[in-house]
Amino acid sequence: MIQLHDLHFAPFISERRIRTRVLALAQTLTAQLADKKPLFMPILNGAFVFAADLMRHFEGACEVRFVRLQSYVGEKSSGEVRFADIGLSKEMIAGRHLVVVEDIVDSGQTLHFFLDYLRQLEPGSLTTVALLRKPSAVKFDISLDFVGFDIADKFVVGYGLDYDGLGRNLRGIFMKND
Ligand code: 5GP
Ligand code: MG
Repeated sequence: MIQLHDLHFAPFISERRIRTRVLALAQTLTAQLADKKPLFMPILNGAFVFAADLMRHFEGACEVRFVRLQSYVGEKSSGEVRFADIGLSKEMIAGRHLVVVEDIVDSGQTLHFFLDYLRQLEPGSLTTVALLRKPSAVKFDISLDFVGFDIADKFVVGYGLDYDGLGRNLRGIFMKND
């Protein structure tokens, strides 16, 4: 059991299980995109750890461009997505094979808005991968191509995910204790 701020969290998905799953996802992406020089687009901040591992197991030429979106404040979704300083142009995206990397899909709102926005920039293809998905909470109609783990509707931290700034450096994923 660990404590971050006022909350307690229990071990949920081990470092080893994550590694095995991320490797498999990277192999799938390699099979699909090895010769397409994909542009990985991790959504900051949460996806930075997942994206780093995923990319390093992708076998082929690839690039990365981080994007910052945010819909969470504290423990609950704030219900709005802020597009802060995305700075993407059609020039940059048109014809490219994008791999959008998300840490966790909850309502799906973050990805829904971002994918709509990306489609206007006419990418060559658009692949979406999320490490975690909360199936009960997917309210928005989004297409997720690959998912690491389907989890219950509980608040989790670790492997890039935070609780008010803390917990991103945990190597496993931990679930909030009620
Ligand atoms: P959505 O827009 O799908 O409702 O929310 C997705 C975003 O909310 C994720 O990118 C992530 O930043 C945040 N989020 C959703 N669920 C959790 C959770 O259980 N723990 C943490 N730390 N962040 C979450
Ligand atoms: Mg996120």
